[in-house]
Amino acid sequence: MKFDELGLTKELLKILEEQGISQPTEIQEKAIPLALQGKDLIGSAKTGSGKTLSFSLPIIEHIQQGTPSQALILVPTRELAQQVGEVFEIFSKTKGLRTAVVYGGVDIKNQIQAVKYAEIVVGTPGRILDHLERRTLEFFNLKILVLDEADRMLDMGFYEDVTEIVKQCPIKRQTMLFSATISQDIDYLASKYMKSPSEVSAAAYVDASKLEQIYYDVPQYLKFSLLVHLLKEEKSGLAMIFCATRDNADFVGKNLSALGIDTMVIHGGFSQDKRTKIMQHFKSGKFYSLVCTDVAARGLDIDEVSHVYNYDIPKTTEEYIHRIGRTARAGREGKAISLVSERDYDNLNAVLKGAEVKIKSAELPKLERVFIKWFPERTEFRRGHGKYRGGRERFGRRESGRGDRRESHNRPRHRFTHNKPTHRFKKRFR
Ligand code: ADP
Ligand code: MG
Repeated sequence: MKFDELGLTKELLKILEEQGISQPTEIQEKAIPLALQGKDLIGSAKTGSGKTLSFSLPIIEHIQQGTPSQALILVPTRELAQQVGEVFEIFSKTKGLRTAVVYGGVDIKNQIQAVKYAEIVVGTPGRILDHLERRTLEFFNLKILVLDEADRMLDMGFYEDVTEIVKQCPIKRQTMLFSATISQDIDYLASKYMKSPSEVSAAAYVDASKLEQIYYDVPQYLKFSLLVHLLKEEKSGLAMIFCATRDNADFVGKNLSALGIDTMVIHGGFSQDKRTKIMQHFKSGKFYSLVCTDVAARGLDIDEVSHVYNYDIPKTTEEYIHRIGRTARAGREGKAISLVSERDYDNLNAVLKGAEVKIKSAELPKLERVFIKWFPERTEFRRGHGKYRGGRERFGRRESGRGDRRESHNRPRHRFTHNKPTHRFKKRFR
């Protein structure tokens, strides 16, 4: 099937052609005609299957220049907001529509200007609410609401924010929900805020022919050595290395760098500016491996990722699917490699419970032991005292994603506890 059979106008077909996109993906084929009819819609398909265009093309067809805030797209993270914003920029340029992208962690002033005139608003729930409270954003004229990556949004604790926002939208509207996985919570959300939605989905989560999934059973003390070995041995495009915590991401990243391996780290502890820069550099291939936490890497669309490493095994099948969805995108081949030591066994068992997940065991190669060069400061001693308790910054705490909520309020407890070398334990190594 071709795009011109889906009911899109010439202008959009031309831009699709310019972008080198000729055939709709399965989810696009199913969702676009329904969305163009103005139907409420639930779309589920694995990451990388082209959900963004499934809703953005119909939105662009449906709205006209002039009235602000006609379409709102809620996304779970700031990186995703930027990404979806870019898609709207590209495809709405001939129609002269404006897109405002709003997320926390940056100055709100520029955003206030941008949302004044933008027909399309893309944003994270926390910052959108912030704008609503300030009355710098109003949805009287809203026609279309999209909840993108809805499963992530709920996982990250945005349920209340999302419902709060939905309540401020006109009742007469089109609502579309897109997600890689559909949970009970999503069903509930849909039943509450959508009008007899059509459900469309595209085949299995993982395209097994394109994605190879293996795991190594490795003793904990050799895990880092195995990672180094694989990064050197595997012929690959870009690689993403997932860790469960910020501290572990720092640990792995700093040690890879110390060995001269081309690496950057990204996690929720970095400023938005820094995260954006790192992502841009990674996309443009300035460095080859990115060590990351789940939150920082969620929904990111980088086509050249050929290898996903799970340095820590995630706790759930869903998380695993999201991670491996970073590779084998848009028909390319990919490899997902899990490094499993004793402490990961429980998590691996939980992941394997998911029906679609089939991970083959691989034989451990002969390894040269790599010695750790970089150790974290023993900062955990300083935490947990007094007024400015470490909170989510504490050692080993999993990223919950809550960092993306109401970033603008810039809670002082982090400002004073983070990375301030005041304590005499500082110089001691573990
Ligand atoms: P999802 O939201 O389902 O995870 P995206 O919408 O981010 O996936 O799309 C993943 C990638 O596939 C993007 O780089 C996008 O440009 C590309 N893509 C989308 N639709 C098509 C298509 N019909 N043909 C080729 N590439 C496409
Ligand atoms: Mg998406």
